[in-house]
Amino acid sequence: MREQGIIPAETASFMSMKSMQKTNDDLPESLDVIAVGAHPDDVEIACGGTLAKLVAQGYRVGIIDLTDGEPTPNSPSPEARLAEARAAADALGVQKRIQLDLPNRRLFDCFEARVVLASEFRRWRPQMVLGFGAKTPMASPDHWQAMQITDAAIFYSRLTKWDEHFSGLPVHTIRRHLYYRLAVEPDTIFGQTHHLTVDITETMAAKLASIECYQTQFSHKPGILDRVRAAATVTGAAAGCTAGESFAAAKPFAVDDLLATVLGT
Ligand SMILES: [Zn+2]
Repeated sequence: MREQGIIPAETASFMSMKSMQKTNDDLPESLDVIAVGAHPDDVEIACGGTLAKLVAQGYRVGIIDLTDGEPTPNSPSPEARLAEARAAADALGVQKRIQLDLPNRRLFDCFEARVVLASEFRRWRPQMVLGFGAKTPMASPDHWQAMQITDAAIFYSRLTKWDEHFSGLPVHTIRRHLYYRLAVEPDTIFGQTHHLTVDITETMAAKLASIECYQTQFSHKPGILDRVRAAATVTGAAAGCTAGESFAAAKPFAVDDLLATVLGT
């Protein structure tokens, strides 16, 4: 599950860099969507219902956790947390889960972190990335750093004439970036204007099942599932469905068939 880090730029001469140059034929089958979290369980809480729905709709979906989330007070080991993350990925049905080696509790937006994540974007070539959209006051500051890293990595992924930092991985342009919020926060993101809601009525159970996989995180917080369910109910009610997850588009986007889009048909 852990992915290889980058080759430091100073070790890659121009000539060896040329020989490392990869094409899409050298890369694994691409993913349509990647959701990025700071820790295992972030993505499940924020947008697990949407990821499960995308999988059910036939899209290839991946999750990238920037850190292993350890240590935490009630986890016996990183291995236990990893096993929970794998089980949660299975509950959602996503095709790929990648755990990077950036440091939990000391996650900072820096050049190296941006390059590590951008390298994964270049390798997996998603059309859309979902990432943190706001600070999470009185919770982990890693979340805010994850947002900065993700914002930058989306940009770095498409930059040409910079191959020496990306192990020869080809550039990749991500078409759409949506911000998510943790489900127990208000249903819109402060300061963001382009909100949309995904109807997760059909995949609410998968979302809750994925969160339940994290016994080390939530066994001492028995109310978590009720809070997540309540937040989805409020978010969905505002948009006229039973359960929803809301996102904010990082930039406005145009629709082709307005009626089909707003009717969800
Ligand atoms: Zn977190």
